[in-house]
Amino acid sequence: MGLLSEGSPLSWEETKNLADHVRKHGIIQFINLYKRLRDRQGDILKWGDEVEYMLVKFDDEAKTAKLSLRAAEILKTLNEKEYNDPDNIKSLWRPEYGAYMLEGTPGKPYGGLLVHFNVVEANMKYRRQEASKLLEPNEVLMSLTNFPRTGAHDFTDPPTHPTPNSGSSKSLFFPDEAIYPGHPRFKTLTRNIRQRRGEKVAINIPIYKDKNVPNPFKEDFGPLIKNESSCAAKEDHIYMDAMGFGMGCCCLQLTFQACNIEEARTLYDQLTPLCPIMLALTAASPFYRGYISDVDCRWNVISCSVDCRTQEERGLKPLNENKFRISKSRYDSIDSYLSEQGEKYNDVPLTYDDEVYKQLTDNGIDKLLAQHIAHLFIRDTVSLFSEKIHQNDLEDTDHFENIQSTNWQTMRFKPPPPNSSIGWRVEFRPCEVQITDFENAAIVCFIVLLTRVILSYKLNLLIPISKVDKNMARAQRRNAVIAEKFWFRRDITSDVKKQDDGQPECTEFTVNEIINGKDGVFPGLIPLVNSYLASMDVDADTHCTVQAYMKLIQKRASGELLTTAAWLRKEVVSHSEYKNDSVITQRINYDLLKKVQKIVSNEISCPELLGTCISSKTNETIPAAVAKAEKVPM
Ligand code: ADP
Ligand code: MG
Ligand code: MG
Ligand code: MG
Ligand code: MG
Repeated sequence: MGLLSEGSPLSWEETKNLADHVRKHGIIQFINLYKRLRDRQGDILKWGDEVEYMLVKFDDEAKTAKLSLRAAEILKTLNEKEYNDPDNIKSLWRPEYGAYMLEGTPGKPYGGLLVHFNVVEANMKYRRQEASKLLEPNEVLMSLTNFPRTGAHDFTDPPTHPTPNSGSSKSLFFPDEAIYPGHPRFKTLTRNIRQRRGEKVAINIPIYKDKNVPNPFKEDFGPLIKNESSCAAKEDHIYMDAMGFGMGCCCLQLTFQACNIEEARTLYDQLTPLCPIMLALTAASPFYRGYISDVDCRWNVISCSVDCRTQEERGLKPLNENKFRISKSRYDSIDSYLSEQGEKYNDVPLTYDDEVYKQLTDNGIDKLLAQHIAHLFIRDTVSLFSEKIHQNDLEDTDHFENIQSTNWQTMRFKPPPPNSSIGWRVEFRPCEVQITDFENAAIVCFIVLLTRVILSYKLNLLIPISKVDKNMARAQRRNAVIAEKFWFRRDITSDVKKQDDGQPECTEFTVNEIINGKDGVFPGLIPLVNSYLASMDVDADTHCTVQAYMKLIQKRASGELLTTAAWLRKEVVSHSEYKNDSVITQRINYDLLKKVQKIVSNEISCPELLGTCISSKTNETIPAAVAKAEKVPM
């Protein structure tokens, strides 16, 4: 998302009345942009990461760590550089959902040379330092997927109070003041999603049943509580009732530019089966609302946190006011592949409006892309600004982007923006953010390398979409990386299906087998990356950096190193104040986050999480001679 345009948000009633208008013009805008850009060729690989951060305020006397609601103030200063000199900055900063959140990206996307892997981590470090310079004493920028005590008593600095009977969230736990105040988009989305749904969002995540957790675990929300929450809260679950519990989490995303629309469709499809695998491997969020949960990832929490479907759409009531039953939240894994190769693996029924589909196909859009767009467009707009209602459909794409950018899925297929030099892009969105830049850089470089391996070896990773969905559920389970098996394609290197070997196309593998290989059965993604690298001319520094990253991925996959989630759990349950009741007290939270901070700033080492080789050769600039010497792009 670019700099958010300012404006006046419409009320939910007004927005709702314009839902068909936005849909109609959004589709026309897509058709126009498609006609203009479908034949665009020759774009080169460019790519960039997005890292989201939280501001945490420590109190060393009271021994507390709280979310600091100062992101808007800090962002203002961070954005000044960009306004003054947009072409020469090393980082870009954007608001995110939380009043305590920031999103940072490199100033410019990276290009297709291997040496670019050497600047990723340095740029992440630069971003961390740049924002950290603006902080108060004892305020720290942290890349945590979730803050352990979000929504627990007294979790913000300054202190705030939830307002169950008024405001955007009407949450028992998450105050509106913790929503980013600098732009109306976030509160508007919160209110509209709740109003469209007809009730508060309801998030129930199983609690980790340690031995002193009451059986059943059932919280008393007090006499003030309206029936809505009492009914929505499930036994043995951590109940949450606001968008902030999900959208207030941080993640790590990656965007790639493809050479043309076909390559973008291929990458979109081929990366899809990797989403659950990377979710399991990057698992980093076991704690919610001050409790230890029984899941390791944020995915279902965010999915439920923006689930705007009505009871009719969720199948709880017969359809009357709404048009469709809808099987997933607008934040979820994708429902269909886009490339011809993917067509036969599209095995889940797609909901869409036949007329919209027909309009797209009548305008020359093939059926795979038409059904993808029509499926995105079953959603209503949940945020509309008065200035944006009337647009020039030949040039503008705001109505299209309105629906596109509020379909928060594992993958996003991004058309070129109007009047820009940017090509067709694909975004990879499942990963949880890690606490150190080293880990985040490792994940980013691994995925970028995989895209190169997929394209140059013409790998085929496709499995039925229904199996990707199954994998998404498994990926979030506690310790999935070690304990679960995942559906994966057995033979990814030869596309022609062997006729007579009697073997099914996909089978269940552990993450270790997928990443590191299984003798005589599966080559493993890292060995494939390594053989790709061996065929390239890699300079010594980049080689060293990339190898350190691949080792981290390999060891996380094999279980030799802990995932972030497993490490966080271990820290909490071994804390002297922990009472085996799955409660993360202020003190436990404080000690945990202090330790995280010491690891990030290299004051202490953490070999069980990071291994012993965490020094890459990362450097903020690429020596011109090295870049020049690398003649062949990846
Ligand atoms: P969004 O929030 O919509 O996903 P952002 O603009 O925040 O998108 O970030 C997307 C990422 O894409 C950034 O890392 C940026 O560097 C990168 N990027 C920018 N231009 C291109 C391009 N032409 N091709 C690929 N990636 C790009
Ligand atoms: Mg962004
Ligand atoms: Mg973001
Ligand atoms: Mg986000
Ligand atoms: Mg993004």
